[in-house]
Amino acid sequence: MSANVSEIYGSLVFNEHVMAERLPSVTYKALMRTIQNGEPLDIEVANVVAHSMKEWAIEKGATHFTHWFQPLTGITSEKHDGFIDPIRDGRALMRFSGKELIQSEPDASSFPNGGLRATFEARGYTAWDPTSFAFIKDEVLCIPTAFCSYTGEALDEKTPLLRSRDVIEEQANRVLSLFGEPAQRIEVTVGCEQEYFLISEDSYRKRLDLMLTNRTLFGYAPSKGQELEEHYFGAIRPTVNEFMKELDDELWKLGIPAKTKHNEVAPAQHELAPIYENANRAIDHNLLTMEKMRLLASHHGLVCLQHEKPFAGINGSGKHDNWSLAADGKNLLEPGENPIENLRFLVLLTCIIEAVDEYQELLRMSVASAGNDHRLGAQEAPPAIVSIFLGDELSEIVDALVNDHESEYASAHKVAMDLGVSVLPAFLKDNTDRNRTSPFAFTGNKFEFRMPGSSCNPSEANTILNTAVAKSMKGFADAMDGLSGEGFERAALAWIKKTLRDHERIIFDGNGYSDEWQEEAERRGLANYRTTADALPCLLDRKNIELFEEFAVLNESEIRSRYEVKLEKYNKLINIEARVMKRMVRQLYLPAIASFAAEVAENLWKVKSVLPEADLSPQECILRKLTEGLKTINDLLVELDETHHAVRAIIDQQNCADRNAYEVVPLMERLRAEVDALEIVVSAKHWPVPSYNDILFYD
Ligand code: ADP
Ligand code: MG
Repeated sequence: MSANVSEIYGSLVFNEHVMAERLPSVTYKALMRTIQNGEPLDIEVANVVAHSMKEWAIEKGATHFTHWFQPLTGITSEKHDGFIDPIRDGRALMRFSGKELIQSEPDASSFPNGGLRATFEARGYTAWDPTSFAFIKDEVLCIPTAFCSYTGEALDEKTPLLRSRDVIEEQANRVLSLFGEPAQRIEVTVGCEQEYFLISEDSYRKRLDLMLTNRTLFGYAPSKGQELEEHYFGAIRPTVNEFMKELDDELWKLGIPAKTKHNEVAPAQHELAPIYENANRAIDHNLLTMEKMRLLASHHGLVCLQHEKPFAGINGSGKHDNWSLAADGKNLLEPGENPIENLRFLVLLTCIIEAVDEYQELLRMSVASAGNDHRLGAQEAPPAIVSIFLGDELSEIVDALVNDHESEYASAHKVAMDLGVSVLPAFLKDNTDRNRTSPFAFTGNKFEFRMPGSSCNPSEANTILNTAVAKSMKGFADAMDGLSGEGFERAALAWIKKTLRDHERIIFDGNGYSDEWQEEAERRGLANYRTTADALPCLLDRKNIELFEEFAVLNESEIRSRYEVKLEKYNKLINIEARVMKRMVRQLYLPAIASFAAEVAENLWKVKSVLPEADLSPQECILRKLTEGLKTINDLLVELDETHHAVRAIIDQQNCADRNAYEVVPLMERLRAEVDALEIVVSAKHWPVPSYNDILFYD
């Protein structure tokens, strides 16, 4: 274990410090211009960087390199190539060229591309993203890359994120310039809080559903759930503690600023939160963190579950995406103390409110997955309706602005009144009630998007957020063109008021779990997509395509390909779940229930022969429950089987998804309920798989 954290921190990363130390100074400067200003990288420079990177990696024990990328499957991919280059005399040299650093050509046809394969060449290439540092993982030098088709269409999650980053940086700087404060460098900052479950490898291996679908398809509620709330922030069990320590060490070596770790609300659930970084690095680091979690768990006889809802009736796992903007290192969502800073803050806040309202469907879509369908709206995670929570003070300010009462607000808060915008009061940092039910909450100096599920790649949600906010900023900057001084301030205030009036409906500070909110949201015209099948089609809405195309974040064929990939993935997952479910019912549950029924019947018979007058109604009652249950389960199995086959045969993927969501999934739930009901009737020793009690409570 680490004696000295600062010594190991970043030791496996080819970071700025290493670059400054090892690269010739001209090369270092050229590379920095690429990293910081996006200037193209010269092949001569790349050759020098590659050589130095290779030498460094070999010293650290690396033998291979890989272009590490994020295909649309939502996980990362890599193909390892050795550095070795045999020479004639039988020896081998270790080589790594600038060309190999900059570009590589994995066969794109095996990665999901949703139709792009048909339209474009199957070949794809990965290109180095120098803004995320190379690192060593398991003796492999990993080079973060973007993955594109040969004609330049994005086949990955990183490319649109990088495009959206450039877009929001440009528009944010236009806004700052209006305030006379253009920045050298604007960054989107992101911190992803990652929730996960840890269970023992032993119970995992005994459950086909966990092994093949990452969630339990069956299971009666545990005798003790999370009602005592003793697990949240509770003492961490020793095995888990060992795991967390090793995880921290490994993450720190990779320069990942893992900061907070604690038990979550549900038994066996935990969370890790890093310190925020720029969005690109934060997301690379989140994906690496997830990979390390899965891998290191096995060192401790544990399995890390990153599914959104591994256990029905127990809280699921999310990935809260904390998002803000920084100008030259200064957080732009810090409300600030003097009125003009407040005006800037209010403009940015208004841009975000407008963006989230205008593109609420896209934001909902970005978190849609078969797994997250079980979580959103399940009274523990935000509902499937997007809304914004501002907290008491900001809500009052927005209210005052919408109703033209800001001067009264200001005087009520004892702030010196003046004409024009100077009446905007200084804000207090809002430390009051943090509404846990809100999907998109202002938490003092950043927004927290709470809808993303634990297993997702957060790139897409951030891409959409960046692009939508950039669009609002552009609207503002265009409207203010040519204005300055007081004229600008007055116009800005008027723009804020009008925009807030148009988009007020997205602000909701109440209880997102309540039924009233569902009705109220409908009255307000907010979208409520309950399932992935409902949420995906908005990708093809003209308005949304236009947003992506306006800023060249995604073109129409890239958007269509993403839609196809998501639909297919959803349908494939439901298909696998249905298959696993049927197999478990046929091979495990039906035989176990039948065999227990036979045992009860035999015992009943035996007792009767010895004690003919005994009251055997309890046993008879059990036997009846078992035989009736067997019949219901079998009927539902047949129904599921038929529906599953019929749906699977549908060619149109949207139609297939709709029927999966509204026929197959509900049938699976009914079947599950029947099996679960017998789990507590059948004797424990006859039950063929570990129960929720066994899985969730271990040492
Ligand atoms: P909370 O208690 O609201 O979850 P924390 O301060 O613990 O708040 O932060 C949670 C996450 O938000 C952490 O990952 C943190 O790094 C991140 N975060 C904090 N400030 C920012 C910011 N300005 N931009 C992006 N993420 C941030
Ligand atoms: Mg949080």
